[in-house]
Amino acid sequence: MPTENWISERSKRFDASGIRRMFDLAAKLENPINLSIGQPDFDVPELVRNELVAAVQDGKNGYSLTQGMPVLREKLQAEVDQDFGHDDRKVFVSSGTSGGLFLTVLSMVNPGDEVIYFDPFFVMYPAMLEMAGGVGVPIMTAPDFKIDVEKVAAAITDKTKMIILNSPSNPTGVCPSEAEIKAVAELAYERGICLVSDEIYSKFTYDQPHVSAAKFNPDTIVIDGFSKSYAMTGWRVGYVHGPSVLIQNMLKFQQYTFVCAPQPAQWAAAVAMDTDISHFVDQYRGKRDRVLDGLKNHYEIVKPGGAFYIFPKLPWGTGDEFVDEAVKNNLMVIPGKIFSADDTHFRISYAAADEVLDKGIEVLQKIARRS
Ligand code: PMP
Repeated sequence: MPTENWISERSKRFDASGIRRMFDLAAKLENPINLSIGQPDFDVPELVRNELVAAVQDGKNGYSLTQGMPVLREKLQAEVDQDFGHDDRKVFVSSGTSGGLFLTVLSMVNPGDEVIYFDPFFVMYPAMLEMAGGVGVPIMTAPDFKIDVEKVAAAITDKTKMIILNSPSNPTGVCPSEAEIKAVAELAYERGICLVSDEIYSKFTYDQPHVSAAKFNPDTIVIDGFSKSYAMTGWRVGYVHGPSVLIQNMLKFQQYTFVCAPQPAQWAAAVAMDTDISHFVDQYRGKRDRVLDGLKNHYEIVKPGGAFYIFPKLPWGTGDEFVDEAVKNNLMVIPGKIFSADDTHFRISYAAADEVLDKGIEVLQKIARRS
C-alpha cells in the first residue's frame, strides 16, 4: 500500500507549499540578501547565554514542572499581576509562543466552531484552526490594515467561539490603535467570545507603548514569549496568561503534548526578564526608518509601528513573479499571499544588518518598475 495513504485528512486540509517554495528558492542562492527571516539579527544577550550554559552545567536538565519552573513562572506571574491587576489571571510557561497558541486552540475550539482572525495573518493561525477542526473566519484589513469593529461585529454568528488578535502584527508590522484594540476587546467581552491576543512582538514598538487587549477585557488570553525579544527562537520559551480555569485546562494538554518548555532555557529566560533590550529596540526603530526612507518613493506602504516587518504593495505582477525577480537579483522577500487571501503585497523583514538592508533597498528600488 502506498504509504501516502496513511496521511490524515486533517493534515491534507492545509498546505505549506508557499513557504516551501521560498526555502527551495533560497537554497539556490549563494549568499542572498536575506530579508525574509522572522528572527532578530542580534544574538541572545551574553548574560542570558551564560545562564543557559550554567543551567546545563548545574544539571538543570530534567523535565520542568508542567506549568514552568518557579524561577520563571513566579517572575512572570508577578509581572502579569502588576500590569493587569486581575484577580484570576494565571500564567504558564509554554513551549514557545507557537506551543501556547496551539494549546489555546486545541483546548478551546470544538470542531465546527468559528474563529475570527484578521487578514493579513500569521501563517500558523489557519493551519492551527484546521488541526482543531475549527472554521477560520478571516476579516480583510487591507489596504490600511486597520481593524474595523463593525466588520468584526458583522462576522459574529452563534458559532463564533474565538477572535485572534495579533499586535504588533506579523506580517504588516502594524499596531492597531488603542481605540481599535479597546473596541474589539469590549465587543468580545460583551458577546461572551474568547479573545486571544498574540503579543509576541510586544517589546518591539517604536512610536507608542504596546497596548494589550487584556487591559480592556479581563478574560483575554494573552500569548507572549522570549523568541523575538531576546533572539532565542531556538530555545522554545513562551508563556500564556488568562482566566485560571482555562489555563488549568491548557496544562492538561501541555502534559500530554509538549510536556514542558526546555528547562535550561527557562532559567535563562528568567535572567532575560532582567535584561534591558531598549538599545535593540532603538536599533530596530532605526532600521524601520531606514527601509521606509529608501522605499517611500517607490512603493505604497502603510507605516508599521512595531515588530520588524514592512508589508509594501506589489508594484506590478503577482507575488511569485515579483519574488522571482527579487531572487534573480539575489534578494529574498516573501510573497504576501502566504499571509493573506490576496496576492497584493510582499513582506520584508528588516531584522538584518544595515549593510544588508542597504543592498536590499537598492535592489527593491531597481525592481520597483518592470524594465
Ligand atoms: N506569533 C507570531 C505573530 C509570530 O510571528 C511568531 C513567530 N514567527 C510566533 C507567534 C511563534 O513564535 P515562537 O518562536 O515563540 O513559537
